[in-house]
Amino acid sequence: MFDAGKLAQVIDLHQKSYGLLKWVGDALESGSLNFERVHSSLSFSEAAQDWIERNFESLPTVTRPAKEEIAPFAHLFASYLTTSFDLVAQPNRRFVSSYLNCGCAFCTTMVSAKHLRVKQPNKKAQGNAHRIKELYLASLGESLGKSYSHMLLETLLSTPELWEDIALATYACELLRRSEFASQGEGILVLWREIAWDKKGKIKKGFALSLPHILQAEANLREKFVAEE
Ligand SMILES: [Zn+2]
Repeated sequence: MFDAGKLAQVIDLHQKSYGLLKWVGDALESGSLNFERVHSSLSFSEAAQDWIERNFESLPTVTRPAKEEIAPFAHLFASYLTTSFDLVAQPNRRFVSSYLNCGCAFCTTMVSAKHLRVKQPNKKAQGNAHRIKELYLASLGESLGKSYSHMLLETLLSTPELWEDIALATYACELLRRSEFASQGEGILVLWREIAWDKKGKIKKGFALSLPHILQAEANLREKFVAEE
């Protein structure tokens, strides 16, 4: 079962990571960001953490985590970048001479913040999303102290009135996981579109992840499992 306090924290960090990327795009113009440190031996999310720590005081409070939340925030931010965008191999030349001391994928991506291309999830990503949902349902079933058949999981997955609850609860579960570990790939992007986009392929007006909605989705799914006993 979800830990409501922890979930509220990652929802907040998720929101802030969106804000941070947007802000970086504008702040690059002002030249106030620090890209001095070279990250060649660091992973993408380690480089993210180092960069956030170095620039912490320059970040606006609305896009900035509490100091003790920098590690989970850096994981979420890194995961947001790698799953949502095609990372740019060649940064915008105009910024290179003035900014880029480090050629790592993270710094290159940040310097190109205004020019990132949104990834289009392919068939593999769809399959990946299905698999993540299945894993989430299996773990929810297990948390109820029973092992449910694969057939039941598939039945739930193909029940239209549960689609939204399953996508939302799975996304939340992945958000918790992504605040600690690497991303599960582009399946996340598929889930995000299922919960946040309308049928026309646009983000729903005013959409934001909501803790009560997620907890309700989990409760609805739990009820379905219990009803099977
Ligand atoms: Zn770097």
